[in-house]
Amino acid sequence: MRVSKSVRALQVPEDNPMTPVFTNIFYIGGDQSLTIDSGEMLEKYRWMLKGYLAAIEKTEIALAAITHHHSDHSGNLKWIREFYDAEILIPHNARPLLKGKLPARGVKKIQDGENIDLGKGVKLTVLQTPGHSVDSICFYLESEGVLFTGDTILGSTTTTVQNLADYRESLEYLVGLPNLKVICPGHGPLIEEPRERLTEYIAHRNQREEQIIDVLKKNRQVTSWEIMLEIYPQIDTRLRRAADNNVQSHLEQLKNVGLITEISGIPKKNRSKQQVSVKDKEHERIIRQAERLKTARLKAQIRAQESPPSDVWKVPPKYEMS
Ligand SMILES: [Zn+2]
Repeated sequence: MRVSKSVRALQVPEDNPMTPVFTNIFYIGGDQSLTIDSGEMLEKYRWMLKGYLAAIEKTEIALAAITHHHSDHSGNLKWIREFYDAEILIPHNARPLLKGKLPARGVKKIQDGENIDLGKGVKLTVLQTPGHSVDSICFYLESEGVLFTGDTILGSTTTTVQNLADYRESLEYLVGLPNLKVICPGHGPLIEEPRERLTEYIAHRNQREEQIIDVLKKNRQVTSWEIMLEIYPQIDTRLRRAADNNVQSHLEQLKNVGLITEISGIPKKNRSKQQVSVKDKEHERIIRQAERLKTARLKAQIRAQESPPSDVWKVPPKYEMS
């Protein structure tokens, strides 16, 4: 779908509760073209991207950028390099986090404040916005008012936060951007009232903090999980750990400013690590094998379309003029 004069969004449907509705890959075209994010390392995303470019009659990607290192954004960088010969743009501190996901050559680090000039007046600015992850960046196309946020801002839910103090600072920065018209998030629908949404996010974080402080005041000593259960009573149970992580990042921030004290936990001594990991490894192996078989079967099905069905006729019917 077209977002603005130079921006198009490819929306790949999802059924995973962590990545609501769909995952987005953005295509920005000037004289040169740039993609932002690349999806998980699965055929689905590569087919969608190839198909989408074909549908809009484009054949090249000159630059392929990511908003942060997470695998649902960086999964296909090697492939984009191989298939389109694109130069890969990564956040300046992302390389150690991207082990195994980068091609051997053609990778460039991008810095806060750097401009990416695609020609025809299409120029994006890199904005360092840590919080969701340590390497999170946004891209801003100010002339068209389009902000690409990755997982810093999501289309339909609030995001997970690794460093809350950084995250809040990043939000404060984004809300002040001039000419902001639309946010293109890493997952979910476009945000057409960006300033309202950013203000909501800031308020939401403040409110969560107040809720956590309330729970702490009511109880003598509580775990993050107990706080999570109290302030997210209705949450989809599959998202509880993500919510607990959010509570933990608030607690971390409150601890750092000296508002609360942590009573250290005691880790388990004899965790049967060995047993679990052997079983897990075996499961991983079976899953990978199944995925390979599935991909091979899909490819065979597609290849089969090139020839007539061999299992139907010994001699197929022929036709001639009567
Ligand atoms: Zn992420």
